[in-house]
Amino acid sequence: MLGAMQAHQLTTAMLIQHAATNHPLREIVSRGEDGRLTRSNWQTVESRARRVAAALAGLGLRPGDRVATLAWNRLPHLELYYGVSAAGMVLHTVNPRLFPEQIRYILDHGGARVLCVDPDLLPLVEPMLADLPKIERVIVLAPQAAIPATTITTPIAYDGLIAEARPIERWPIIDENSASALCYTSGTTGNPKGVLYSHRSTVLHAMSALAADSMALAAADSILVVTPLFHVNAWGIPYSAAMAGAKLVLPGSALDPVSLHDLMRDEGVTFSLGVPTVWLALLDHLRRERSSDERAALRLNRVFTGGAATPRALIEQFRTLLDVETIQAWGMTETSPVATVCRPLAHHADLPSHAQIDLRALQGRAVFGVELRIEDEEGRELPRNGELSGLLKVRGPWVLNAYHGQASGSAVDADGWFDTGDVARIDADGFLQITDRAKDVIKSGGEWISSIDLENAAVAHPKVAEAAVIGVAHPKWQERPLMLIRLHLGENGDRAEILDHLAAHVARWWLPDDILFVDDLPHTATGKLLKTELRARHGDHFADRGNI
Ligand code: ADP
Repeated sequence: MLGAMQAHQLTTAMLIQHAATNHPLREIVSRGEDGRLTRSNWQTVESRARRVAAALAGLGLRPGDRVATLAWNRLPHLELYYGVSAAGMVLHTVNPRLFPEQIRYILDHGGARVLCVDPDLLPLVEPMLADLPKIERVIVLAPQAAIPATTITTPIAYDGLIAEARPIERWPIIDENSASALCYTSGTTGNPKGVLYSHRSTVLHAMSALAADSMALAAADSILVVTPLFHVNAWGIPYSAAMAGAKLVLPGSALDPVSLHDLMRDEGVTFSLGVPTVWLALLDHLRRERSSDERAALRLNRVFTGGAATPRALIEQFRTLLDVETIQAWGMTETSPVATVCRPLAHHADLPSHAQIDLRALQGRAVFGVELRIEDEEGRELPRNGELSGLLKVRGPWVLNAYHGQASGSAVDADGWFDTGDVARIDADGFLQITDRAKDVIKSGGEWISSIDLENAAVAHPKVAEAAVIGVAHPKWQERPLMLIRLHLGENGDRAEILDHLAAHVARWWLPDDILFVDDLPHTATGKLLKTELRARHGDHFADRGNI
């Protein structure tokens, strides 16, 4: 017997229509290339998105065609989110911080017919266009007068294109299982792989983000979107903010601490999201350069972190400096991305402060819809006892099934489980703790050492700004940990002092065999430590230790 309810398709058009109808004047603030702020609202974004849809149809694009973007967190990018996908085309966001050859590969593989690019990113695109035969037109996200001299033939000015277009009258009805957006994994090894989200997966993921035990987004929130719109759809914020009717603050390309602080202060920001490295820089600035009155004036009350392990020190500083709650989440491009979120349970309410912080340093519990499982190397499920760690697998309605355009077909096993490539433990309450990437775990004398645990312990030392631990081949132990440390400005490194500090946090046999103090650590385009490079640089560091 079928239910007798309306079979509305869950589409991104629903989201923007809802926001425009029910939160029409809720603001969208955007910082442009010149640093100036532009103000729009959900109603205007919706009507301009209908112009975008008409303009793209006018260029000959049809449902299912890809439209690529190379753009910062600015208003036109948000308009494209809806103008492309709500009209049935597929928005392919590309990360401009990748190496040019990766960008070219991703653009070619995604197969977009139109590329939309911010004017300041034109120099990145110009040299590669000759090798991108599928791209027919380039739209520059600016008025005609602001398009710099370019080698691109007949670039289209976005503002003019939109101004001339007659908006489509209504959004088309789309099958909820059709593709809405395309993102590529950062791919520290091998070629990047494409994850093709559907309208249904996008709407369900957005709805999940609104839950009280996730981002808890509300119409009253003002959201500073630090996570780039080209990074797993800014963790779904363009969609979930429309669903909530929240205010959006788009910082453009200026993610320095001063710019972020000023936007937080001037735009009444209550919620923000980003990778830990951005927050460490902001906290450092707030501690050193801002008075306690200035800090107290901020309305920020919670910060959502992910993409890499959130150090304990970050959680503690947000709490003590700003009285802000840090909400850590775990996920990946393949999981849309939010799969687990860390918020306390009722029985944690009376925990002492340090234990509350320990709890927040975990990656959290599965959100509704996502299932987790840890396995040993033979594929046997491991118990949830908080001690045994194994390979983490996930499944759910916003977890990928197959990579875009890959001949190998399915990316999951016969039961639908996707192997994340992460190593983790799960405790009896269901809290996940990522202990490593499978390829980063340090195998010493037949046991595993967690590089992330060591890094977190190091960053808890007041002199340490950032730490990276890699497994380095060792003649006796197979691998031993080598720690690289970037100190806060003006501090002096003392190996013995750091080792003493670490000894209070980890088992003796985990202690790094050596510590190197460095001026800088390499990062991927999404802010993760680039351990492949560190391994290449320091891979023979213990080669002469045969007699230890
Ligand atoms: P993203 O582009 O969102 O960073 P990727 O697919 O490139 O996603 O990387 C996902 C990986 O990032 C995860 O498999 C995991 O190793 C790491 N990661 C994400 N969130 C966390 C977290 N909170 N703690 C530790 N590692 C994390």
